[in-house]
Amino acid sequence: MIVMGIESTAHTFGVGIVDNGKVLADVRSRYIPKKGGILPREVAEYFSSVAGSSVREALASAGIGIKEVNAIGIALGPGMGPQLRIGASVARVISAKYGIPLVPVNHAVAHIEIGRYVTELKDPVVLYVSGGNTIITTYVEGRYRVFGETLDIALGNLLDTFARDVGIGPPYIIDGNHVVDVCAESGKYIKGFPYVVKGQDVSLSGLLTAAENYARNGKELSDICYTLREVSFSSVAEVTERCIAHTNKKELLLTGGVAANKVLNKKLEVLSSERGIDYRPVPFRYAGDNGVMIALTAWFEFQSGITIRPEDAYIEQRWRLDEVEIPWYYLMGQGS
Ligand code: AMP
Ligand code: MG
Repeated sequence: MIVMGIESTAHTFGVGIVDNGKVLADVRSRYIPKKGGILPREVAEYFSSVAGSSVREALASAGIGIKEVNAIGIALGPGMGPQLRIGASVARVISAKYGIPLVPVNHAVAHIEIGRYVTELKDPVVLYVSGGNTIITTYVEGRYRVFGETLDIALGNLLDTFARDVGIGPPYIIDGNHVVDVCAESGKYIKGFPYVVKGQDVSLSGLLTAAENYARNGKELSDICYTLREVSFSSVAEVTERCIAHTNKKELLLTGGVAANKVLNKKLEVLSSERGIDYRPVPFRYAGDNGVMIALTAWFEFQSGITIRPEDAYIEQRWRLDEVEIPWYYLMGQGS
């Protein structure tokens, strides 16, 4: 069964094609702002300029025609409205024109499912950290339940915003490493940064403000980067560890864009080996947003009979992870 997936929730327009789980195409166009943050309308314009050619390129690289596609997965949220609308329009048009079933995919679920599929972890606690999300979750009775999350900004956003505000980025990633990591290399720990874990949730915005104040007052930037990273990573690791203790699960999955981070990986490796559980991060190439994760998730949804009529496929900017039923959970766990 051949499934196409379209991703357009934030900065990347992605088209992935899988055939019974085998990746046939993975086309990505990433919007990189020249300066400042992401302006949704600008990104949406960029997405419309690359959408048609991305679909054509994906089909060509898979060596198939559009009529051979059995289902189209579309990420309907969570994400930014203007970008989501581009992907949704493209998917609706293809679906309606060629009579190909449309499958609604939650972007957060897709980050988790590609991790689970590729790492072959069956029932993990999941730390999902990206530009827009910081969530500690695991499957309980039909859904991914949120055990903890950020109360304000996401981990990736914290790193990116700090880098931008002190002038060390963009670009934020150099040779696979975040510029905050590069800057932190010879850094030392500064005492007194706010470490905020409230119940099961983390709060990172106070940390950002504190770091920026230190920078403004002329503290050594490498020390600030080191401490910012240390404090933020430790707080998400603490909540993750508590989720593992509560649920008694034996596996830990790291997914989302920040999963590419070596220091975070090291922390989770240590935590997992101390607890005697199996830790695996999503492979580097699938850490960031991509169309393959949408296609893979749609493939499992489609096998569970989940489709949506094109006229009902509305975008949902705040579509929460724990609203989604996951009837295919154990089907994927079998490794298909
Ligand atoms: P996503 O939204 O899932 O595509 O993830 C993008 C986020 O991942 C951005 O905030 C990036 O800065 C972040 N990211 C990518 N690579 C790394 C890395 N090596 N270390 C830390 N953050 C990273
Ligand atoms: Mg993402």
